[in-house]
Amino acid sequence: MKHYSKIELDRYLHDDMNILLRVACSKHLKNCEQCKNSLSELKNDDQVIEQIRQGIKLLNSVPHKNSKSSDCGLT
Ligand SMILES: [Zn+2]
Repeated sequence: MKHYSKIELDRYLHDDMNILLRVACSKHLKNCEQCKNSLSELKNDDQVIEQIRQGIKLLNSVPHKNSKSSDCGLT
């Protein structure tokens, strides 16, 4: 059985794969622990990157955290 490389799985994950290959790949993933594990590792990597992005976004979205509370309009 031919296994998928991380590069191929990465393409699969990001919809950057020929539809026929995608179908074959998803079939293979259902039966192959090894490739499934590789795919979940890639997903984890993506999550870490996404969390870092969100963290940066958060940092940028609260520049006035120490300003007066009356600025928020709740008074
Ligand atoms: Zn495999």
